[in-house]
Amino acid sequence: MSDLLFPPPAPVLAPMRDGKGFVPVNRIFCVGRNYADHAKEMGAEVDREAPFYFTKSNAHLTLSGTTIPYPPGTSDFQHEMEFVVVLGAPGFRVTPEDAPGLILGYAAGLDMTRRDLQGAAKDKRRPWDTGKDFEHAAILGPISPAGEFGRPGPQGITLLLNGEPVQRSTLSEMVWSVPDLIAHLSTLYHLAPGDLIFTGTPAGVGPVNPGDRLRGEVQGLAPLTLTIGGAA
Ligand code: MN
Repeated sequence: MSDLLFPPPAPVLAPMRDGKGFVPVNRIFCVGRNYADHAKEMGAEVDREAPFYFTKSNAHLTLSGTTIPYPPGTSDFQHEMEFVVVLGAPGFRVTPEDAPGLILGYAAGLDMTRRDLQGAAKDKRRPWDTGKDFEHAAILGPISPAGEFGRPGPQGITLLLNGEPVQRSTLSEMVWSVPDLIAHLSTLYHLAPGDLIFTGTPAGVGPVNPGDRLRGEVQGLAPLTLTIGGAA
């Protein structure tokens, strides 16, 4: 199109594992407080009425295996290891029974957080955006096909910080299951292929510093790696 004032952003592509193509990433939904032990460590409680969400721009997605700068505006940059659902089909007002039909695959993810900015936003009852949705704030590992992974449940989810396990749980500890999350989210949005859902983090979140190496593992998925570089 000749009348564009500047080139549109390139599509955001997330690779399937083993070189089996790419998913064009659409929206990034993130679930808050989906593990009771993490809600507790944040001084909060799980809301059993309904899950809640925040979003990240797909422009802020960074793939596993990279070094990201320590972001501006924070002195408390933190890791949140998460299980990520990748949708491959549209859905609106789907039942939990039908929800698995929307799932293309799964990946290990990190919901990177400027915790000090998030905390200040909570205190002032302001939006979380600057604490959650910033450059390189969503990290994604290679995507495994849903059929190869099987049903989320007993698989372990672990984050190693410089080789030491700091977050460790199982997917069965999620308060809201993957089908429940998809069904609920589909009452609020017309879900679409390429939408990602970061399903929340277990306890053990904490700060990272320049030079730190992170390795995220979910049993049955390709691991995710990330290195924290110097200040942006
Ligand atoms: Mn999170």
